[in-house]
Amino acid sequence: MGLSSSKGDSSAVRGHDVVIAGGGPTGLMLAAELKLAGVDVAIVERREDHSLAGARAGGLHARTIEVLDQRGIVERFLAEGQVAQIGGFASVKLDISDFPSRHPYSLGLWQNQFERILAGWVGELSVPIHRGREVTGFAQDDAGVDVELSEGTTLRADYLVGCDGGRSTIRKSAGIDFPGSDPTMSRLIAEVETTGQPPLGIHRTALGTYSFGKLDYEIRDGEILYKDGGPTRVMVPEPQLGARGEPTLDDLRAALVAICGTDYGLHSPTWISRFTDMTRQAAAYRDRRVLLAGDAAHVHSPVGGQGLNTGVQDAVNLGWKLAQVVKGISPDSLLDSYHAERHPVGARVLRNTMAQVALLRTDDRTEALREVVAELITLDEPRKRFAAMTAGLDIRYDLGPGHPLLGRRIPDLEMRIADQPTRVFALLHRARPVLINFGEGHAFDSKVAPWADRVQRIDATYSGGWELPVIGTVTAPGAVLIRPDGHVAWVGEGMDAKLAEALTMWFGVPDHGKG
Ligand SMILES: Cc1cc2nc3c(=O)[nH]c(=O)nc-3n(C[C@H](O)[C@H](O)[C@H](O)COP(=O)(O)OP(=O)(O)OC[C@H]3O[C@@H](n4cnc5c(N)ncnc54)[C@H](O)[C@@H]3O)c2cc1C
Repeated sequence: MGLSSSKGDSSAVRGHDVVIAGGGPTGLMLAAELKLAGVDVAIVERREDHSLAGARAGGLHARTIEVLDQRGIVERFLAEGQVAQIGGFASVKLDISDFPSRHPYSLGLWQNQFERILAGWVGELSVPIHRGREVTGFAQDDAGVDVELSEGTTLRADYLVGCDGGRSTIRKSAGIDFPGSDPTMSRLIAEVETTGQPPLGIHRTALGTYSFGKLDYEIRDGEILYKDGGPTRVMVPEPQLGARGEPTLDDLRAALVAICGTDYGLHSPTWISRFTDMTRQAAAYRDRRVLLAGDAAHVHSPVGGQGLNTGVQDAVNLGWKLAQVVKGISPDSLLDSYHAERHPVGARVLRNTMAQVALLRTDDRTEALREVVAELITLDEPRKRFAAMTAGLDIRYDLGPGHPLLGRRIPDLEMRIADQPTRVFALLHRARPVLINFGEGHAFDSKVAPWADRVQRIDATYSGGWELPVIGTVTAPGAVLIRPDGHVAWVGEGMDAKLAEALTMWFGVPDHGKG
């Protein structure tokens, strides 16, 4: 697409292959993935710039850090964040420093910093962002989607992706169900100045959990040390559920007085917001030419810090598939694998955050239950399972039976290619699939040749061990086919029938496609 056309009315219609509604973490990541694959993509973002009122999410888990490493941009995030063992389940810390990953930790990094850095990369890739505009609706037909913008113009696209957050206009306009459960708790969250000295840290009381922190902090020996000065981040239970409208400073004062007996002289808020444990997931991540990703597809309590991470990983699963469909390399049925793979991952996140919300209630019996659960999940085997789950390192897409690597993320091994040390992730920087032959000789040269324009073919040697999180050591594969999202699509020895099948399934029939 990418051509101008007219619609027969006053509105200008400019074309893009893909329009993304929403330039938050998910939309930005998806735009970059599409652009890397050579797709004409544009973002429509309601905000005038990428600054965010409030810091929101507090960090990244290991798999998201790996995903950024796969694209060669992880150092930008590591340079501004703080590496620490801050992952856990229901506030029970679970250390992953012994995990077989180049990044066996979480990264303390506020969402506004994350978005700024990500937006910088998206800017370098020259993705157009239509800022200060809203998608108000769309109409799709067999050939594309008319995306309606707030100022009355329409953008024509082959595909529209709703990355427009939990209240997604795209999801609602598509009529996609959003089943789940209503909130059982509500919290006010704010960044304010105080004249008093609130007790920094998390406080669990019979009336609920509240916390005070500083945006500026350092993590030392696993403990958060807040720096002096700057605004205070407050989190406090809201007395009743179902309040409507934006919360005010008076609401925050009242909630603080109810639980602390004082409001610590709070004033000058830069951000006041509310979050709940509403837990819902889109029944379908796709309706023909319209797809959903990130919070638009799933909402849940922020406990455990999974939302942003899951959204970014949705984007990395969807980006290359959508690119191949747009370019005519793959049939559009490839997009169904996006729902098939990511919906179960989202459902598990929802289940686990609901469990954490329940375990974090502060009545005596739940406290006792949490202690019992803590005893169990800090035992070595359960620790690995729960930690890998929250870190996103245990995700396996169901690609059928076979080698344990099949459907899982490839570890970032240090191999040798033509006698030069090379990391596997370095081969994924451009988001292109790669077939690595670890065996002797060039067993699949001619048979793989038809895919040479789209699949990198590498002969490498690696003599170290193959270890996967939770699973442990696995048999060294002779060869692996790695998708652009870093998941293994085929494991084998030389050219077997299944390799051609996997290449066709994921990367299309040779000689098809326009680019
Ligand atoms: C207090 C709190 C703490 C959290 N902590 C964590 C954490 O530690 N780790 C974690 O992983 N997650 C955390 N989360 C969740 C995380 O903030 C979200 O999951 C994440 O922002 C989702 O990203 P997104 O891009 O899908 O949606 P959003 O961040 O909501 O972005 C949607 C974007 O779309 C734009 N938009 C909306 N509607 C339209 C429209 N119609 N047209 C154009 N643009 C539109 C919005 O302006 C916005 O920029 C936390 C959330 C909260 C509230």
